[in-house]
Amino acid sequence: MSSGDTIYSLASGKGRCGVAVIRISGPNANHALSLLTQRVSSNLPKPRRMIKSTIFGLKTDRKLDQGLIVRFVKPESFTGEDVVELYLHGGPAVIKAVIGNLAEIQNLRPAEAGEFTRRAFENGRMNLIEVEGLADLINAETEMQRQQAFRQLEGELGELYERWRATIVNALAYMEAHIDFADAELSRNEVYKNLRPALDLVEEMHKHLLDGRRGEILRDGLRVAIVGAPNSGKSSLLNALARREVAITAASAGTTRDVLEVKMDIAGFPIYFFDTAGIRASDEEVEVEGIRRALECAKEADLRIVVSDVASPTKKKSLPLVCGDKDLIVHNKCDLLADAAKGQEHDSSIQLTSAKTGEGLDDLIKKITEWADKTAGSVGGEAAPITRARHRLSVESCVEHLVRAGEVWSGGGAIELVTEDVRLAIRCIGQITGEVELDELLDIIFSDFCIGK
Ligand code: GDP
Repeated sequence: MSSGDTIYSLASGKGRCGVAVIRISGPNANHALSLLTQRVSSNLPKPRRMIKSTIFGLKTDRKLDQGLIVRFVKPESFTGEDVVELYLHGGPAVIKAVIGNLAEIQNLRPAEAGEFTRRAFENGRMNLIEVEGLADLINAETEMQRQQAFRQLEGELGELYERWRATIVNALAYMEAHIDFADAELSRNEVYKNLRPALDLVEEMHKHLLDGRRGEILRDGLRVAIVGAPNSGKSSLLNALARREVAITAASAGTTRDVLEVKMDIAGFPIYFFDTAGIRASDEEVEVEGIRRALECAKEADLRIVVSDVASPTKKKSLPLVCGDKDLIVHNKCDLLADAAKGQEHDSSIQLTSAKTGEGLDDLIKKITEWADKTAGSVGGEAAPITRARHRLSVESCVEHLVRAGEVWSGGGAIELVTEDVRLAIRCIGQITGEVELDELLDIIFSDFCIGK
């Protein structure tokens, strides 16, 4: 694979649609446009001016479609190369015909997944943080995910890391000058003046790391296990929630026989609900396995909705679960209670519901939303949260190096030793934004993309 190739691909979604966009990027993009539109190069549209044009087959001269064409001249394009975009009628046969003709042109080949964006990165049009933000934006299914991805794409996180990096680079510059020009020129004190701001970053980095993994949780989706005794109404409650104001985006049987997974969009938060097997003492082999899976699911969940049947005499019996702040206690089947009894049940930490009549469901959704906001919502005025474990690991390593640099310095250690850690700290931050060579990482990051992006 050479990045000097000209690549093409359908950039819009697959399937029938009003408009389909085919993107071509590379040195032969304009040549391909000339061939497909039967225009000599002097007759191609001005850059960034969209014009209507017929698209012709190369060999047969057949008209394939009529659409809009636009071209971008390097480096002012998404990829930083010459780019051509064809806006065609979105029928599968039209797309197939045009793609088929592109394949006939010499030095053109289909783009691999993420290849347009990879070129944008390699040509300095985007840093890695922005690339990841773009991948997240394309994959965002809910409003909160969209907001987070857009903040990242806009460069908020990138600016933070860039500021950190510049501060540490500045410190390194003074330390190296000290080493190169001998003590007389630049005193240890002078060096410290510039090292100190870098060492002070440790506190800010610690704060950044202590974000409760909000960004990562939002990106991956929040996990809520619905657990409780058999027949307490867990499945009915899940169905009732799904029919309520929430939209199911996916419903599939879980990998385990007894855990059903339903993904919903609640107030913009992507939430996976897991309906689990009822928990009770049992000797029956399959049921025991189901219960084991239910307990495991409950343990891994970000929140547990612990359901019991309010009308059952055994409802107060505690479940074999570690109850704690991860639990939302629900007493279901409140339609079976007389009004007076409902009053007695009243405890604000317990949610009374009826999956049958719908009573209490709006309040339950409200509590779930409040919890989601606390767990994965953005905190006003704060820096954008970390969205990937990759960034977290790099910031953690950076802190380690800065702490060690500080210790060696205050222990009166040689500046050469301190320099080593400062250099490594820079490298850690550079890995996040992509400012050092990091081939191994790139394949992982770009694999998040679909073809055409
Ligand atoms: P699960 O085993 O915990 O998933 O419980 P199900 O959802 O299968 O419900 C068990 C039984 O209780 C079914 O017959 C439901 O129709 C009934 N049920 C569930 N929720 C309610 C409720 O809120 N009120 C009443 N009266 N019955 C309910």
